[in-house]
Amino acid sequence: MEKVKNLIVGAGISGAVLAERLASQLQENVLVIDRREHIAGNMFDSKHSSGITVHRYGPHIFHTRSKKVWNYLSAFTSWHYFFLKPMAWVDNRYVTLPFNLNSLYQVFPAYLAQRLEKKLVDSYGYNVKVPVMKLREQQEEDLRFLGQYVYEKIFEQYTLKQWGIAPEKIDPEVMARVPVFVGKDDGYFQDTYQAIPAQGYTRLVENMLHNSLISVRLKTPFEKIKDTVEYQRLFYTGSIDEFFNYQFGELPYRSLRFDIEQKNTEYYQPAVVINYPNNFDFTRICEHKYFLDEKTPSTVISVEFPQAFKRGENEPYYPISNPQNAALYERYMQEAKKLPNTYFFGRLGAYKYYNMAQAVSAALDLFEKIK
Ligand SMILES: Cc1cc2nc3c(=O)[nH]c(=O)nc-3n(C[C@H](O)[C@H](O)[C@H](O)COP(=O)(O)OP(=O)(O)OC[C@H]3O[C@@H](n4cnc5c(N)ncnc54)[C@H](O)[C@@H]3O)c2cc1C
Repeated sequence: MEKVKNLIVGAGISGAVLAERLASQLQENVLVIDRREHIAGNMFDSKHSSGITVHRYGPHIFHTRSKKVWNYLSAFTSWHYFFLKPMAWVDNRYVTLPFNLNSLYQVFPAYLAQRLEKKLVDSYGYNVKVPVMKLREQQEEDLRFLGQYVYEKIFEQYTLKQWGIAPEKIDPEVMARVPVFVGKDDGYFQDTYQAIPAQGYTRLVENMLHNSLISVRLKTPFEKIKDTVEYQRLFYTGSIDEFFNYQFGELPYRSLRFDIEQKNTEYYQPAVVINYPNNFDFTRICEHKYFLDEKTPSTVISVEFPQAFKRGENEPYYPISNPQNAALYERYMQEAKKLPNTYFFGRLGAYKYYNMAQAVSAALDLFEKIK
């Protein structure tokens, strides 16, 4: 029987943080396994034959307000500053996202855009986010019209495609977050730190795992090795329902398909990400050369098709947030608490829609707790 102090299931960022901390701070040995053929989980990127760094599992932009998380990761990478400015294809033209004062002038005649701008600023002030749902409930006719326009043209069909259910059925917290921005900043995030690792995400994770106390085994599902490795602690970043063999039922997830295509043109679209709320079956097209400002004669895009998650057929990307699923997750967590020295974390283990910085922060917190 092979013996290790720590077994970590999943070589994504969550597993990598734990492995790095255990090895560098406690000088403990760690075996990290992943069923995929690569490290870095959903952040995985690699060089395409065109010379462009491609994010295999969709566009990933690092963003956080946490100095602690930023400083921690900065020990393993230098950064290429990057501010996401996506657009949407609406009524045959590109529109700035999130919908803001500039967007008004892209979709409406100038006289109407000016009137709406004044009413928005008078009612809410400048540089503020107003939930679209609030605008739709406005007494004032123009603002209610704007709320309805943005809701229908930008969110309604997009949400239907993304989640496969009507917006009303989505957790109200998710819809409440969808804003109109009363301002002219086209940036999607307002976080202090926004960047892409200069050598890519895979290199970042590789650097984190570069320690003689850490060994990494790929193409290795937990189920295959759990009876051949003896471990004192288990850190599990896979799906918690899978770990417990779905004994209380399956936790629902949403999946995606990414069609990656090379195009024989220098640039394909005017922004890194274009949303397609109303036309076509896909939701977004991402043009990858923008991330690191790579100059190449051709370009690579990925087209994103939301799909139902089917076990064994595709990947569980997004936990579906609603009270029923939270209750099911809680049942699994009660089981998990009975297992000594076993920790569930990461996006799948916690069944939470973590961004990368939140995943790092949660993994750092877990390390503090167990050390
Ligand atoms: C389309 C998309 C776009 C995103 N965009 C952004 C963005 O712009 N900015 C941002 O901050 N975040 C973004 N995210 C979120 C980001 O991908 C996650 O926060 C991050 O990857 C979470 O890392 P993790 O290690 O928790 O999980 P994962 O990356 O999912 O890693 C878990 C790993 O565990 C492995 N595994 C699972 N079960 C087993 C098993 N039984 N045996 C062996 N291995 C197993 C999996 O193969 C996987 O590699 C995006 C996510 C998606 C899906």
